[in-house]
Amino acid sequence: MSISEFTQRDYEVIARDYADLKEAARKRCTSQEELDVVQKAFDFANEAHKGVRRRSGEPYILHPIAVAKIVVNNIGLGYKSIAAALLHDVVEDTDYTVDDLRNLFGDRIALLVEGLTKIKTVLDNDAKARNRSLQAENFKRILLTLNDDVRVVLIKLADRLHNCRTIEFMPEYKRDKILSETMFIFIPLAHRLGLYEVKSEMEDIWLRYKEPEAFNDINEKINRNIVDKEKEIDDFIDPISAALKAAGFDFEIKKRVKTPYSIWNKMVGKGITFDQIYDLYAVRIIFNPSPDSTESERDQCYHVFSIITDIYRYKPDRIRDWVKHPKNNGYEALHCTLMSHAGIWIEVQIRTKRMNDIAEKGIAAHWAYKKDGFAGEHESEMDKWITKVKEILVNPDVNALELLDIIHNDLNTTDIFIFTPKGEQKRIQKGATALDFAYLIHTEIGNRAIAAKVNMRLVPLSYVLKGGDQVEIITAEAESPKREWLQFVQTHKARNIIMDYLKEKRVTNVELGRKILEEQLEAIGYRINEETLNALMEKHEIYGNPEELYFRIGIGMLKLNNLEDVLRGSIQEKSKSWFSWFLPKGKKDDASINGEEQKFIVADCCNPIPGDSVVGFRAEDGTITVHKKSCPVANNMAAKHGDRIVMPKWEEAAQTSFLIRLSLKGLDRIGIINEITRFISFVMSVNIRRINIATEDGVFEGSIDLYVHDKNDLEKLVRKLRKIEGIQSVVRTDI
Ligand code: MN
Repeated sequence: MSISEFTQRDYEVIARDYADLKEAARKRCTSQEELDVVQKAFDFANEAHKGVRRRSGEPYILHPIAVAKIVVNNIGLGYKSIAAALLHDVVEDTDYTVDDLRNLFGDRIALLVEGLTKIKTVLDNDAKARNRSLQAENFKRILLTLNDDVRVVLIKLADRLHNCRTIEFMPEYKRDKILSETMFIFIPLAHRLGLYEVKSEMEDIWLRYKEPEAFNDINEKINRNIVDKEKEIDDFIDPISAALKAAGFDFEIKKRVKTPYSIWNKMVGKGITFDQIYDLYAVRIIFNPSPDSTESERDQCYHVFSIITDIYRYKPDRIRDWVKHPKNNGYEALHCTLMSHAGIWIEVQIRTKRMNDIAEKGIAAHWAYKKDGFAGEHESEMDKWITKVKEILVNPDVNALELLDIIHNDLNTTDIFIFTPKGEQKRIQKGATALDFAYLIHTEIGNRAIAAKVNMRLVPLSYVLKGGDQVEIITAEAESPKREWLQFVQTHKARNIIMDYLKEKRVTNVELGRKILEEQLEAIGYRINEETLNALMEKHEIYGNPEELYFRIGIGMLKLNNLEDVLRGSIQEKSKSWFSWFLPKGKKDDASINGEEQKFIVADCCNPIPGDSVVGFRAEDGTITVHKKSCPVANNMAAKHGDRIVMPKWEEAAQTSFLIRLSLKGLDRIGIINEITRFISFVMSVNIRRINIATEDGVFEGSIDLYVHDKNDLEKLVRKLRKIEGIQSVVRTDI
């Protein structure tokens, strides 16, 4: 931010942007008084940020205006939220206080702005504080406002989206931190609150900066594909339009192409190429249910389904009825996949206007319809989630970092339905065990559980439930929670109750943990000392608190299975310095840490090679671990410890080789495997480390681990392999 006189041009841009916002706000506001509040908020913010510019050079006020626009256009909130969005940076960046705003705009708007104001405390550097994270504290603060007003989180998401849109003006390390946080917590949050537009725009920006080459490549392919397929899709839609018109429906049909991020995610997740994505296109039928009809909304969706399947053949296993069972973010629609006359599978999504608004704008739209008297099962799902988060938040024992993990995991889980012995339906997260179910029913049932009956069959408490299971818990009066339980329970609720029970016996558990660690270390020839303790504390992100380490071991929360690897990895690898052909770049103070040569480790979770876009994290001792920017581990790290980010740079002419894995699929013919391996090792002179290929029914599938120098090398190899007859796909995958 910098201060300088605004030019005539600046004032014009401000006036133009605000006029746009006002136009949008007018549609949402129900009275002149409401519009006046928006105007007053703009005038105030405009004056407060006067002369201040953003990094991009544009007047600062354009940012709050843009956030307010997202708030009204993409989220559908009303005048108080629009005003709060306009004012959201006033307290943080100027001399005005929350009290000033309260006097001018009343309690509610002041409260929203207060929730949006960041905490500015700088964490001190002592060992204990390292277990904290300013990022996490800030996030916790925002979440705490869920108790008062969900709108704070919604406006925060709008703020974040605009910061993502303008991220090119940030230095690279900050960019990585912001995008990682966005992926770790804001995108899942937007998803859970049903904000589809916000979520998918954030995802695409994430991909554009984390994997620029992949992003451009996918975009190019989409554009080429659209040109090729446009006519086919139109030919597919025409008969549908005609039939729906004939049946008297009031509807519109939209063509949808999958977003670059969701394509990339599918390619990476399934190890497939762009051409193998068959649901690239979707067609969306949005209709206004007829008010005179005696049919329910759902029946009318089925009516549409019946009409279109008279025209096209459908894939029986691809019907998704989210009208009857809405997703836990409130999404409702009827999906099916039809075969066009040109022979391509096209997904068709059938929605009413109401369902479509909720699908695109999420929670605010769902509240608006709720006010109008629409009530359904799904409504309580979003509310239930918020209640659940509130429960997590009130627990004073959870520190901000743990909270971030809990929320992240919670946001990323999906639910399944389980039946009680009486046939009652209960919702529980996927992966939950019989014991989690016991705690879901009642704390005492969990505490006294000894086994379960699933579909009349006796199973242990660790049994992982499947959707549709009928579960009965067997209890015994004298039982109590066991520390082993922590190794398999999945839900936060169950874990909390068990931990609370065990915490009451903290001293005993600390002693027990120390004894267990001592024995296990001895067994592999190590001892408890500073080095081993530090390695373990670092690994488990408990900094400078051995007692906590013992306690976690004591209650069985922390497993010591790969103890030897952890210790050896941390103690030996750090002495290697064969990655010194990196040049660190980015933050100035990173130029020379302790005046010594940098030590780099290539992360073994994502195995980056020269040419990949990478990010590094500096450990306490100055060692830098290098990950691919899109690696989930790196993303997690950057979201919590953004202050450790460094931007390493690959140096040219590396003589070292890097291990990567290629996944291959193709048609099996005699000698093809031989041909592939010979081609790799003799023609390309690439070193193969391991081959793992299986053939079945004339098709082969498998992977080859090999060493390459850099990305260029790799791409050349992949291109040539794809030309071998019979090969259908060659994709680099994680090892
Ligand atoms: Mn802002």
